[in-house]
Amino acid sequence: MFAVILCSGCGNPRMIDLTSTASRCPRCGKSVEHSRAKIHLRSEDQGELRAAMWSLNSTPEFIKDNKPKKTSSPDPILKLQRDFERISDPEQRLSHVADSLCAKSGHFTKDDIRTVFPDTFEDILKGMLELGIVFEPRAGRYQRI
Ligand SMILES: [Zn+2]
Repeated sequence: MFAVILCSGCGNPRMIDLTSTASRCPRCGKSVEHSRAKIHLRSEDQGELRAAMWSLNSTPEFIKDNKPKKTSSPDPILKLQRDFERISDPEQRLSHVADSLCAKSGHFTKDDIRTVFPDTFEDILKGMLELGIVFEPRAGRYQRI
């Protein structure tokens, strides 16, 4: 059985596996005991829960109340990392990442993507190339197709 909870640290909706007793928020690192978490929806169907998370995410007032107040403009790297977590469709989120990385100069490098996704950039790049989202006109340089 799975469930959607709102992280008590950052307000991020996330899916938990109720067969385990606790988990850590990937966004803010706060550890939550599942017995104490406020459960919004539980289901065996992870797709249904993802849809629910999406709807929680698109309700700004609901999330705002749970988020620590921040006045500075959002860090573009953090924003992209959040967008990546938020978009469930793999092709859509890789396209979004490619668009964002290409926004400034029309291309991006391996270092650019490593800055945003230090642990998973290899997989992300591979996915982008396999899905035909970007191509590599020069070694280590990627452009949107
Ligand atoms: Zn959190």
